Amino acid sequence: MTLHIPFDNSYARLPARFFTRLDPVPVKDPRLIAFNDALAADLGITPGTPEDMAQAFSGNRPPEGAAPLAQVYAGHQFGGFSPQLGDGRANLLGEVVSSTGQRLDIQLKGSGPTPYSRMGDGRAWLGPVLREYLVSEAMHALGIPTSRALAAVTTGEPVYRETGAMPGAILARVASSHIRVGTFQYFAARRDVPALQALYDHAVERHAPDADSPAKLLETVIERQAQLVAQWMSVGFIHGVMNTDNTTISGETIDYGPCAFMDAFHPDTVFSSIDAQGRYAFSNQPNVIVWNMAQLATALVPLMPDQDAAIEEFTRLVHAMPDRIHAHWLALYGRKIGLAQATPEDELLIVGLLERMANNRADFTNTFRVLSDGAPRDQFLDPTAFDAWESDWRTRLEAEDDPIATMRAANPVYIPRNHRVEQMIQSAVAGDFAPFDRLLNVLSRPFEAQEGAEDLTRPPEPSEVVQQTFCGT
Ligand code: AMP
Ligand code: MG
Repeated sequence: MTLHIPFDNSYARLPARFFTRLDPVPVKDPRLIAFNDALAADLGITPGTPEDMAQAFSGNRPPEGAAPLAQVYAGHQFGGFSPQLGDGRANLLGEVVSSTGQRLDIQLKGSGPTPYSRMGDGRAWLGPVLREYLVSEAMHALGIPTSRALAAVTTGEPVYRETGAMPGAILARVASSHIRVGTFQYFAARRDVPALQALYDHAVERHAPDADSPAKLLETVIERQAQLVAQWMSVGFIHGVMNTDNTTISGETIDYGPCAFMDAFHPDTVFSSIDAQGRYAFSNQPNVIVWNMAQLATALVPLMPDQDAAIEEFTRLVHAMPDRIHAHWLALYGRKIGLAQATPEDELLIVGLLERMANNRADFTNTFRVLSDGAPRDQFLDPTAFDAWESDWRTRLEAEDDPIATMRAANPVYIPRNHRVEQMIQSAVAGDFAPFDRLLNVLSRPFEAQEGAEDLTRPPEPSEVVQQTFCGT
């Protein structure tokens, strides 16, 4: 049986300066290690044999109907502008339309060098491929907009990283597009207004069909990103590389690199080894996303006939973003403590808990979960810190109909804990994929306590703590 993907490609029809057409670079010995049957079915994909899918998803034999290309974009990386980036190790194969009518990209990541590879080798190793597979699927199950994982293959070739020779791998991922803030920046930086207009038209059609002006598109993206970052904050997620080339127009999380979920809560938490200044620290994510939206606004200005008026209007939209993020944050954190509809008066209660958690090394995920399902005070180094907060909280809960149900739907039992992800990667490198399959399965139902999975709720032992995550993906 051969794999069949019902491609319907639109990006490939955009002007030639949007991309470089090229096939993935073949690999030696591809093996299929993961395939997402449910997602494939939703996309109308007919699976093939494992050998056939290994050939297709390694890029050795692109599936029929694919129009492989590497997309060009620019971006602010850690605040500095790079006028030309692009898919340095990825090929967009094409698009499909899902059962719900949504157009989705299928992209191979790790599929070989392209004209945008700069100093990179165009490849990925098994660890980051499995990390992205697992974490993106976990995010999806948590209800957070994200790219998805369709398949993963090993290549049979080594990839050289800080840690030595690692097994090469390729991820086939799905996203509602890979159009980034940096894609707009690329054409804006060149003052290529016709291309900017074509990109705008394409983005509106795909992501904001109701938008009738650049201001409306900007507002739509701002709203989606405000919601997204608030959702990240509500599960203790740290993206790690919120460069403008990793910030989508769709409002989906993409480019899982040195990302991580926090164990013990602290607002200043940073994992990425290259984020020395803490630019992308947990609690700085709302500030950074506003900054990134200001860059999108700047890139949209050339589309406007009256640029002074546009700057004024766009500035107003960007300045209103912190309040939008805060409103989402308040609603989400309210639910985490059992309030169906938190009001500004409830903020002190939420912040009071977070402060006590930070001062007491309380585990982020478990503390919130045991508010409904256990003994919260045990999570605190000094349990009296919780006691002092608890009475105000109980008083406030009296006004709620079903706070337990509210909390259980808002506080996951399981997140992809760093130490588990690292252990899973070590096992996979040694040839054992059982921990990957197990994590994937448990994390597909994160709000449900599952028998036999208690170990996956435990924070790391001191010897298991992952201090840093690496960009050497
Ligand atoms: P990131 O911030 O990880 O999303 O990557 C930033 C840029 O570096 C993107 O344009 C990537 O395509 C490129 N890149 C990352 N890793 C590699 C690699 N191993 N080979 C070539 N390009 C890479
Ligand atoms: Mg990227």
